[in-house]
Amino acid sequence: MKIASYNEHRVGLVEGDQVFDVTAALPAALDSLPQQRINWLVANWADALPALRAQRGKAKGVPVSSVRLLAANPSPPHVFAAPANYRKHIGELGDRVVTKKGRSAREQGFFLKAPASLVGHGGSIGLPKGSTRRFDHESELAVIIGKAGRNIPRAEAIQYVFGYACLIDATMRIEPGVAEEERSMRKSFAGFTPLGPYIVTADEVPDPEALDNRLWVNGELRQQANTREMIVGIAELIELVSSVLPLQPGDVIATGTPEGVGPFAPGDTVKIAIEGVGEMSVHVRENDAVSPRPF
Ligand code: MN
Repeated sequence: MKIASYNEHRVGLVEGDQVFDVTAALPAALDSLPQQRINWLVANWADALPALRAQRGKAKGVPVSSVRLLAANPSPPHVFAAPANYRKHIGELGDRVVTKKGRSAREQGFFLKAPASLVGHGGSIGLPKGSTRRFDHESELAVIIGKAGRNIPRAEAIQYVFGYACLIDATMRIEPGVAEEERSMRKSFAGFTPLGPYIVTADEVPDPEALDNRLWVNGELRQQANTREMIVGIAELIELVSSVLPLQPGDVIATGTPEGVGPFAPGDTVKIAIEGVGEMSVHVRENDAVSPRPF
C-alpha cells in the first residue's frame, strides 16, 4: 500500500493517480493532533487495517495532483541519517568533507536531521537569503520504522521496517577554515529534508537493497546508483541506531547518498526517483526574510 499525508494532515491511500481519504478510519482523538496520524497508523498498523480497508471501500478517489502532499511522515520522532555510506561518494567533496578519510557510516555512526526540516512533494527547499554558500542535493532511500525496538540484532532488523520513501538530504557545505558549522544545523534548514511522495509499505519492496536511485536538477541527471552499493546495509543501520537509543514507530532513517552530489540554486527543480518507491519533485527558492545570523 501507498500511504500519503496531505492537505490538513489527511491520511490517504494512493492507487495509480488517485488518492482515497481514509482519515475517518483513525481514532477521533487524533483530530487534536493531526500531525501524529501517520505515527499512530504505523504503530497500530495490523489492528487498523480492517477499518482502513472498509474506509477505502467507501471513499471516492481524487487525483493526487489535486491535493497538497505533505512529508510522507510529517512528524517522525527522529530523522536519523547515515553519512558516507557509498564508496564512490566518499572523497568527491574534497576539502568540504567532515568525515575523516576512509571512514564510512560503520565507523561514524549516524547524525540527526530536525523533523521540522521535512517537506513533501511539491514543497520548497528554502535557502538563506543572500547566501553565497554551497548547497547540495543528496539522493537517498528512506526507511520508515514500524515498531519500537532497542538493541535489535541485524538478523531480525528487517522485521522492524514499515516501509520506504524517497528522501533528499539537502546540505549546506562547510567552507574549510571559514565556516564549519555542525552537520545537524547545516542539514536542518526548513525544507532541507524532502520525504515522499508517500510511504510504500515494505511488502511492496521485496528487495530494498536492489533499487535504482536517481536524481535530476532541472531535468539534468546528476545522481544514478543502486542501493546495493550501500556500505552499511539497512539491517546493520537499524542494529547500529537501536544500539544507541530505542527506535520508535514512525522514525525515519536516511540511508546515505551515492556519488554525483552537487549544488543547486534558487529557481531549480530537484527530482528524485527510486525504483518501486516513487518520484518526488521539490523547488529550490530563497527565503523571503534575511536571517539575523548570516550564512
Ligand atoms: Mn546524506
